[in-house]
Amino acid sequence: MTELRSAFQKLAVDGVQGLAPYEPGKPMEELQREYGLTDIIKLASNENPRGPGPRAVEAARAAAADLHRYPDGNGFRLKHALAVHHGVAPETITLGNGSNDVLALAASTFLGPGREAVFSEHAFAVYPIVTAASGATARVAPALGPETDMPFGHDLDAMRARVGEATRVVFVANPNNPTGTWVGREALKDFLRSLPEHVIAVVDEAYCEYADHPGMPDATEWLSAFPNLVVTRTFSKIHGLAGLRAGYSISHPAVAELFNRVRQPFNMNACAQAAAEAALADQEYVRASVALNTEQRDRLRQGLEALGLDVLPSAANFLCVRVGDAAAVNEGLLRAGVIVRPVAGYGLPEWIRVTVGLPEENERFLRALSAQVAGD
Ligand SMILES: *Cc1c(COP(=O)(O)O)cnc(C)c1O
Repeated sequence: MTELRSAFQKLAVDGVQGLAPYEPGKPMEELQREYGLTDIIKLASNENPRGPGPRAVEAARAAAADLHRYPDGNGFRLKHALAVHHGVAPETITLGNGSNDVLALAASTFLGPGREAVFSEHAFAVYPIVTAASGATARVAPALGPETDMPFGHDLDAMRARVGEATRVVFVANPNNPTGTWVGREALKDFLRSLPEHVIAVVDEAYCEYADHPGMPDATEWLSAFPNLVVTRTFSKIHGLAGLRAGYSISHPAVAELFNRVRQPFNMNACAQAAAEAALADQEYVRASVALNTEQRDRLRQGLEALGLDVLPSAANFLCVRVGDAAAVNEGLLRAGVIVRPVAGYGLPEWIRVTVGLPEENERFLRALSAQVAGD
């Protein structure tokens, strides 16, 4: 086994040899199996605790009747709905199997050996993965210090300083996962303006709907000003459709045309296309999800601060909180049936990330955590 492992390892392309797999939040069934627990809550993957919207579920169910057919490989209906929603042309939209797929498309289109990608320390784990898999070199900018008003957030100046002749892609997560931190409108616009023409700026707005903070940018407004801008969005978070895999980017049509060459012909399935279209039309569901998150995020922050814990600023649907021995605390929470996300893999070994859940889930998490930090 180990011999074969190293033999195959040598056969893999260079980028894959140095790669570690993405570690997802622990699935509920796994905890059930491993610990024999039945009453479990999962606050580990930034999913919408309200579930999918009923209109989206109905659309997915209706689409299931035609599952013997290939999906529309061009995603005509969804692209048109998105184009109307954003006030852009359908040719600017690239659909993906989650926005993760579109991030990977950006890497396979513009990165490769001898090229560089720039992103921040503590940024979303998919950026280093798609960069390394392409064979490109990652230039990781140090994050803002803990004493700043955006601790562990993106330092756009430090990122800009790492952009060079070989840079082809810069990834900005706004808000960022796992920190929840964000960059403001003017700072991001100045950063985009400062980038050379040979650099594609990918602004990942997976959580933007949750970000109701003043000065929070909507990068889609700048698409005509910056032809090298790619904005990614997802149906996994606010729309509660993570299990279906639906995401997209908006970019200059010429960039979308390149993505279209690289993508798999049917990279968004039929149920996902139908459900996403219905979810987009159900803005009432979005509003109610945002309202619940804003209220419960405050409640959760208060509860954590009442335990004497440091919590990072967050414009998203999760909080990153310093618990000390995060591995031990996580283990204690698992035994109490609460799944959260340790973020040691993101360079934050003393922190955990907790998704804002339903009121009763947040209360239960706070009780379980309080028992942990009190040392029970
Ligand atoms: C969850 C997340 C995504 C979206 O992933 P999908 O593939 O669309 O489910 C993208 N970027 C960040 C920063 C995320 O946290």
